[in-house]
Amino acid sequence: MLEGQLTFFGGTGKSGGVQVLFGKGNQALLFDFGVEHSSLLFPTQVTLYEPVNATPGRELRQFLLGGMTAPLMELYDPDRITELDAAAVRRAWGGRDFPHYDQIHLYIGHMHTDHMALLPFAHPDLPVYMSRDSHALFKGMVAGGHSLDTKAQITALDDLSIIDFGEFTVQIIEMDHNATGASGIIIDDGTHTIAYTGDWRRQGKRPERIDRFIELCRDKQIDVLITEGTRLTADPSSVPHQMTEETLLASFSDIVCEAEGLVYLQMSPRDLERMADMISIAAGKGRSIVMEASLAAIWYTAVSEGVTRLEGHPALDIPIQVIDASVPAHLNLPYEMISLEEVAGNKEKYLYFYKFPDLAHMIELEALGDLQGKSVFIQSDYSVKIEHPHLAKFLKAYGITGHALSNGGHAHPEALSDLIGRIAPKAVITLHSRFPESQNTRGVKAYDPVKGETVTVSSILETAASGVNS
Ligand SMILES: [Zn+2]
Ligand SMILES: [Zn+2]
Repeated sequence: MLEGQLTFFGGTGKSGGVQVLFGKGNQALLFDFGVEHSSLLFPTQVTLYEPVNATPGRELRQFLLGGMTAPLMELYDPDRITELDAAAVRRAWGGRDFPHYDQIHLYIGHMHTDHMALLPFAHPDLPVYMSRDSHALFKGMVAGGHSLDTKAQITALDDLSIIDFGEFTVQIIEMDHNATGASGIIIDDGTHTIAYTGDWRRQGKRPERIDRFIELCRDKQIDVLITEGTRLTADPSSVPHQMTEETLLASFSDIVCEAEGLVYLQMSPRDLERMADMISIAAGKGRSIVMEASLAAIWYTAVSEGVTRLEGHPALDIPIQVIDASVPAHLNLPYEMISLEEVAGNKEKYLYFYKFPDLAHMIELEALGDLQGKSVFIQSDYSVKIEHPHLAKFLKAYGITGHALSNGGHAHPEALSDLIGRIAPKAVITLHSRFPESQNTRGVKAYDPVKGETVTVSSILETAASGVNS
């Protein structure tokens, strides 16, 4: 096949799990390597309480036999699939044939589980590309035990780098999302251009990154735009706007300022920028920072690797202490340790980066020392909400005030339409969405791929031009 074509292995009509293979000649690029949120199994995510996990050591077999990841055996670590029945894997895809390429490259847009869960199971020879900040974060996640490591060869790329695969080039463009290092791509095969946004939002700290992506796409005259559509619903006009990151951080600052007892903070450590901002805001209010050990390991490792987004950030110079009871035997951290008793005795002095389900810590922290009934708990874009029955029970038992400070990582439906209208591609594909048909494309023709479909770029454009699939 000399003509560029796309195969859709995941993310069609579902949230998360975008797996699209672009191929031309003997070269191909798979973009993103996660599992859809609504799959039979969701990969272990430390933020989820008792998820229905794959069996440790058999994860890849189960993802493949469940039709949850591309059935291209050359992508995977052979040690993880010894004696796996390839015919049974093909059956999960209805016995369909897929294109073959001599060399597949993998690009991972960001470090959320629904985009990178398969990375630990990648073939040792698979060339993997990601942004520098995604790479630093991945190393942190491995150090903190939040992801298994990979044997694959990772190339970390500077923002706006262009990789030339011969048949086509790929440019990496950093975006704004609640995973540090998130980036989109533009593929150019000399005949057609395809842009993929990855996950993105405008309510973050850097909406200008989205404008820059739009401008780069306009310059390239994109043929096919692939965007996420997570926040689309059956009626997108009723979707509420979310607060900006600036407003969220100002509220955080107010809550910390007014708190009389201990401040518990539960947030996603994959958003290193928010973590940095909250560290420096709390320190500015006179609070010392204490962390659960795996969060401290992620922070230490990622910033030691070098996070470009955090260059010169004041948080890098703020001391971190680690709750000694949370440190597993194998973990070596260069930070000072602190006991639960010490924190309990001086509740007004600390902000605790806490990790669910360490609720038992709260018993000691609240029962000991003084200032009973004065602590606050902040949940900031974390999957365990303050209404979660286990958490709510503890907050009630100790008279702790709960606060939810979240703005999500995904674009509002109006922002989606605005992006599509301004890029004005010949065709748009909405992935990572349960309601792709709700997308207001501002007159741009939509193409709705089905899972497992392979289609040439030119036939997507012909279908769009004929208006059949709009
Ligand atoms: Zn996602
Ligand atoms: Zn994401």
